[in-house]
Amino acid sequence: MNKIKLSNDTWVFDEGGVRFFLLIGTERALMIDSGMKTRNAKELAEEITSLPIELINTHADRDHTASNAEFARFYMSPAECSNYYRSGGTGEFEPVRDGDEIDLGDRKIRVIETPGHTPGSIALLDLKTRRIFTGDPIQDGRIFMFGVQREMHAYLRSLERVEQLSGEFDEIYPSHGSFPLKADIIPKLMAAAEKILSGEAEPAEEQVFGNTIKAYDMGVATFLCD
Ligand SMILES: [Zn+2]
Repeated sequence: MNKIKLSNDTWVFDEGGVRFFLLIGTERALMIDSGMKTRNAKELAEEITSLPIELINTHADRDHTASNAEFARFYMSPAECSNYYRSGGTGEFEPVRDGDEIDLGDRKIRVIETPGHTPGSIALLDLKTRRIFTGDPIQDGRIFMFGVQREMHAYLRSLERVEQLSGEFDEIYPSHGSFPLKADIIPKLMAAAEKILSGEAEPAEEQVFGNTIKAYDMGVATFLCD
């Protein structure tokens, strides 16, 4: 676990395969996701801040929820709930929807719905520091798009939506791949998604978690599809 301090009020917790974040306001702090192998994310955050710490999950995939059990409640899109509880998730769920803002005191974090990778994926726009935390959909690593409920058309619309907001952020902090990214990755991901949808892109066959999937190495990122 590598704790990276971007500034006094913004920390990156990097596990190697995945990262999660701590945003500190004047009244409370917010964790964005809770790790893949880490089981004590909250404890680690308490070494940094004495403020109450709340949790929001960008989505319910298990590499983002490992320390959720430390929290009595958490924010999540209602569209993720089924996957979360069916895979053994615990705690009291507080629904967030597009445009909702979590107020940390001097710092508001806005929820942006970005369905596609999962039905309830969200990005979090930090209006104060002009950063956006995008979870899995906007990144330059491997983007999982195979299996039920993952949908490329919805994904493409979500990219368009975030691109329209690009005047409100300077840096993108995804959960995987390199960071920070600039908004110029978004049109590149859009072009890649369009090529995959139109059948122009050439996949390679790959085995992932026992599934035979199509891996599209599009340069900007690799998309793993049905
Ligand atoms: Zn992930």
